[in-house]
Amino acid sequence: MIYLDNNATTQPLPEVQEAMAQAQRELYGNPSSIHQFGQVARHCVEIARGQVAKLIGASPKEIVFTSGGTESINLAIRGALRAHPERRRIVTSAVEHSAVLRVVERLAEEGYDIQYVGVDREGRINETELESTLTADTAVVSLLHANNETGVIWDAKHLAELAAKSGAIIHIDAVQSAGKIPIDVSQWPAHLVSLSAHKFHGPKGAGALYVRRRTRIEPQIVGGSQESELRGGTENVEGIIGMGVAAEIAASECHGVAQKVGALRDALEQGILATIPNTHVQGAAAQRIYNTSNISFAGLQSDAVLMVLSEAGICASAGAACSSGSLEPSHVLKAMNLDDAVAHGAVRFSLSRFNTRTEIDDLIRDLPAILEPLTELARRASQSTGR
Ligand code: PLP
Repeated sequence: MIYLDNNATTQPLPEVQEAMAQAQRELYGNPSSIHQFGQVARHCVEIARGQVAKLIGASPKEIVFTSGGTESINLAIRGALRAHPERRRIVTSAVEHSAVLRVVERLAEEGYDIQYVGVDREGRINETELESTLTADTAVVSLLHANNETGVIWDAKHLAELAAKSGAIIHIDAVQSAGKIPIDVSQWPAHLVSLSAHKFHGPKGAGALYVRRRTRIEPQIVGGSQESELRGGTENVEGIIGMGVAAEIAASECHGVAQKVGALRDALEQGILATIPNTHVQGAAAQRIYNTSNISFAGLQSDAVLMVLSEAGICASAGAACSSGSLEPSHVLKAMNLDDAVAHGAVRFSLSRFNTRTEIDDLIRDLPAILEPLTELARRASQSTGR
């Protein structure tokens, strides 16, 4: 198998697996228990909080553990509405992950005015539009850092500075960037930042929300007084420990990983563009995260491409993992205003530190033959329609 679906999820590092297995065996005390056994678990949770905080330049007190990116985002957006109960506008973008889009759609039903800022053909946010949608009535601004489908990176610091002028609470979805590229939230005027462990070789079901000091948000899961009363429920101790280990390794190794994975991604792109006709890289002119390549095979259907790739043992994805299986081009590519033929044939390859040069070379060598049945069908279809 050649696994190129790392924006969907990553393989947990051996160190993460080992720390979690040990925690499961030996650390089953409840961190809220007063006895010593519970307090050992508490101590380990606090070590992990420090590791996650360090990854993004936060203080440990600013980290709230959650069950993952989706929960962090829900807590951020809904929780932040408390800060400005009188404000009724929420500003976001047209290319957010569904974890953001579904939340704001619900809020629209509850009477909020949702503004979706557009992007250009390369996936860069329209800053003029962003500025014009920011009003004194804006309660929350929620924007991506790195796009999960195209890898296009936005300048979170700059965008947060623009948004800060409105006095709104600013949330950045850094699920696809944290653990991959250096982040220093102390330099961003953002109040809230979402992270997810399984995107950087940690476990699934563990995430965090950075809550800047003195930002008051409303918990969305209430119960016990865990996580400074911002997220009730007994902590997922082994998941949190795994996230901490993954964060520490990501922080110390991200530079080398970026170099290695970036070179592989570039080789993959160049190889595909050189050997397969009518291919195009989305967002190629924009700043992109080094592991992601969204390539369209114009004239082919992405679902069919994914199927033949899968039969050949290659795991890739069409846009967001959850949108594969549908024939509609993703909302991200639609927002980028790509031609239909390009958008329909888009496939996302996302790499990680575990990929090798041999895998990439094998893929480039085998791809023309893998796609041949589809290109032949497309050729016949265009002949029969006389095009
Ligand atoms: N935000 C982005 C940009 C993502 O890519 C994802 C997952 O794909 C999420 C949020 C949701 O994260 P999780 O799977 O941890 O709930």
